[in-house]
Amino acid sequence: MEVLHPKKERTFVLLKPDAIQRGLIGEIVQRIERTGLKLVALKIMLANREQAMEHYFKDDAWCEEKGMRAVNAFKAAGKTPEKEAVEYGRDIVRALADFVTSGPVVVMIWQGNEAIGVVRKLAGGTEPTTSDVGTIRGDLTIDSYRMANVDSRAVRNLIHCSDKPEEAEREIKIWFNENEQLTYRLINEEVLYDINLDGILE
Ligand code: ATP
Ligand code: MG
Repeated sequence: MEVLHPKKERTFVLLKPDAIQRGLIGEIVQRIERTGLKLVALKIMLANREQAMEHYFKDDAWCEEKGMRAVNAFKAAGKTPEKEAVEYGRDIVRALADFVTSGPVVVMIWQGNEAIGVVRKLAGGTEPTTSDVGTIRGDLTIDSYRMANVDSRAVRNLIHCSDKPEEAEREIKIWFNENEQLTYRLINEEVLYDINLDGILE
C-alpha cells in the first residue's frame, strides 16, 4: 500500500440523529473545524437499513465484549441473564441500526494529521455521563448505559467517528461516492504543514 503523508489521514464522522434533533450540527462541526482538520465531504441524509447494518458490522468478539456488560448487570441485580452475552451484543447492533435510521444524519470526511485520533479525542468516551468534560459527548448530552439498557436501545451519544485507518476507508465507501470527496488546498494549512514557513514575512 502507498504510504501517505500524515497530513493525508482521513476519518469518517457521522452526526447521529440526536445531534441533528438537538440543534448541534454547527457546534460539533465548529469544534472539529477549529482544530485545523480539513472538511473534504459533507451531506445530510436519511440512512437506509442496509447502510446502517453495513456500517455497524460487528464481529462476534465485539458482540461478546459489549454483551458481557448486560450479563454482568443482570448478575449484579441478582437476576439470571436470559441469553448468552453474544446475543445481547447482537441486540445492541440492531438497536444501533434502529437509532441511525430514526432521522436525518450528517456524514462527513475530515482530513489532516492524526485525523482519526484527533476526532476521537474531541468526541470523548462512548458513554456521555462518563465522557471527559470538554468533549463533545461529555459537554453536550447526558445519556448512560444504564438508561439505554433499561429502555433496550442504543446509547445516544451524538457522534460516530472511525477508530482506525482501515475502518475509516471501509466506512467512507459505505456513505460517499468518489465524486463527493473533494481534493483541495486550504490556505490556512500552510501554517500547519509548510516545512519552512517562509511565506509570512514580507
Ligand atoms: P462509535 O463507534 O459510534 O464512534 P464508540 O467507538 O465510542 O462509538 P463502540 O463501542 O464502537 O463505541 O459502540 C458503537 C456505538 O454503540 C456507541 O457509540 C453507542 O451508541 C452504542 N453502544 C455501545 N455499547 C452499548 C451498550 N452497552 N448499550 C447500548 N448502546 C451501546
Ligand atoms: Mg466504535
